[in-house]
Amino acid sequence: MKKEERDEYEKTYGLFKFKRPLPSEIKSAMGLVGESILFKKLISQDYERFYDPIKIPDMRDWLCTHKEYGQTYNEYIEKDIIPVDPNHNKIYIIRLFNTDNDDLIKEEFFQYIINLLEAFFSGMKIEVTSSYMNNTENNSENVDENNGENNGENNGENNENNNDENNNEENNNENNNNNENKKESNNNNENEENNNINKSQLDKTPVNADLLLDKLKFDVPPDAFCVFGLIDRDLYTENVQNGKLIIKAVYGKRSLPDRVGIFSFARFDPFFNFSAKEKSLTKEQNFKIFLILMRRICSAITRELCYMFGMKNCIFLSCCMNGTSASEFDSKQIELCPICLRKLITNISAKGLDLKNYRVKNPLVVYERFVKMRDALENFSGLYENEVNWFNARIEFLKTLI
Ligand SMILES: [Zn+2]
Repeated sequence: MKKEERDEYEKTYGLFKFKRPLPSEIKSAMGLVGESILFKKLISQDYERFYDPIKIPDMRDWLCTHKEYGQTYNEYIEKDIIPVDPNHNKIYIIRLFNTDNDDLIKEEFFQYIINLLEAFFSGMKIEVTSSYMNNTENNSENVDENNGENNGENNGENNENNNDENNNEENNNENNNNNENKKESNNNNENEENNNINKSQLDKTPVNADLLLDKLKFDVPPDAFCVFGLIDRDLYTENVQNGKLIIKAVYGKRSLPDRVGIFSFARFDPFFNFSAKEKSLTKEQNFKIFLILMRRICSAITRELCYMFGMKNCIFLSCCMNGTSASEFDSKQIELCPICLRKLITNISAKGLDLKNYRVKNPLVVYERFVKMRDALENFSGLYENEVNWFNARIEFLKTLI
């Protein structure tokens, strides 16, 4: 590597001095030692041609505002993985709202989601069920009592503050899993900057994320790998700090030991902070917003579910698992980089076998997943045109390796 090139990699970005990973670090993070030649090729050959380097972060981007360590393949297998086993191989998506009442998200939307998730998590079963949880209403009584200081500040900019994805907390709940590492409960998207909720500015009553998560924990089906709730209302958490009740808006929360997570897409709506009157849009405008929402939800739900497999934010290449601030919502990519793809494919293929010594028996699952992803994205009627082209190019290249 030339000196000028090396100097580029030495540059640091943001509060936590993020450095772009060297090509040698990316290769090493894949940890492909011991795998079959075909599997190695299908995962990593010519990856530089197909996968963009991690984006140099702007001031408002995730990597400039959060400390990230990344997670190599070996770190994943050795300490973070939540293994899939044949008896717990179903992902349940719980729709925590009534599509009849939603302006934009209708029933058909979930067929798109199922198709996408069946391709993305190829080998897992996906089921969408409904639960409207009416009694969440009474959780919102005290939401606006502590917001005097922040009134008027809860505009679109606050979305960024809400997107703190990786505040992991020790979870003192009963650990249902024998593995020590599963004790982690990810306090997903918790806002560090006390971004209080102002109920008067929300269209829909916010819901207490902890209480909602507790309800999901008691209803995990026996064959579930995880249960994941999707809600169109704002979520919040309550914590007492120095004797003062702090209420924070959060995008979601999860408990890995309990295999449950929730995620709110309320703030993905570009008109989230607008009043009902201001929101009276034409059919065309509504459709445009629906497309924005759909892309944002698809990127978020795939990433959130990857967290349920023990995967962490990616710092190696441009990837679905990159940490995301609000400023990056719409540039988010839908596919995993080779490192994260290997984590997911190996976990799903192993079906609970000893992962440290496991080698993927049928490397063609890699190729087949690319085809399924292309087909699923094609169903979105042009929304993912660039991505479909990318998958087609990747598939053509992989055919030459098989
Ligand atoms: Zn990645």
